[in-house]
Amino acid sequence: MLTLRGIHKRFADTVALAGVDLDIAGGETVVLIGPSGCGKSTLLRLMIGLITPDSGSVHFDGQPLQPSNILALRRRMGYVIQSGGLFPHLTARANVALQARFVGLEDDPIERRIDELLELTHLPQDILERYPVQLSGGQRQRVSLMRALMLDPDVLLLDEPLGALDPMIRADLQRDLRAIFRRLGKTVVLVTHDLAEARYFSQRLVLLNAGRIVQQGSYHQLLQSPDDDFVGRFVSAQRQEEAL
Ligand code: ADP
Repeated sequence: MLTLRGIHKRFADTVALAGVDLDIAGGETVVLIGPSGCGKSTLLRLMIGLITPDSGSVHFDGQPLQPSNILALRRRMGYVIQSGGLFPHLTARANVALQARFVGLEDDPIERRIDELLELTHLPQDILERYPVQLSGGQRQRVSLMRALMLDPDVLLLDEPLGALDPMIRADLQRDLRAIFRRLGKTVVLVTHDLAEARYFSQRLVLLNAGRIVQQGSYHQLLQSPDDDFVGRFVSAQRQEEAL
């Protein structure tokens, strides 16, 4: 579904990605993990075409992402960021419906889809008339997920969607998100810096460091057979944090 080859990306003097190859199959849930600044968000933003690589290619469903097809392909991808990224001057309903209106969907199918998504994300009807500032952090992320799913995309890209939430809200949303991923069977790429969360969501963790993929595999593979010293240190630092 997503194929990245030889990706290099720099921002001025900063090398964000230094030669990344990655294949993500249809229906798979993959977690990108690694320390802050290792290039996880940059990789996700390349997948949805918000930025372009300096060299290398990104293919979505066999097609190279390029200016002529990027808008059409982006409609097949839902994107959720840590802060939710909702427009503050629009109600939750208007945020969720925005893209559907833009592509010319009629009111009736939009309302039907909103009802389905409320049920899926466990949100009550009355939040729809609220503005983002009137929502809790967890509700904002659920509305953001509704918006990402509105056009029934093939792929969901989530950039630290739970990073700003307190532990109980986070645990609730983790559980609901995992159930939603399983129920929908979409291709999911989720970014986190938290190993416990990564393990909860997927059998396939892609660990990055300094703009490169250092190891891919399950939590147990990373734990039991780290490919290098960095992997061992990353895993043990996270386990130490969990134990505190
Ligand atoms: P992560 O998501 O793993 O924390 P990022 O992909 O956000 O890492 O960033 C990778 C590196 O690229 C970091 O050093 C970051 O500061 C830099 N970077 C990312 N985006 C930009 C940008 N738009 N301008 C300048 N530097 C950037």
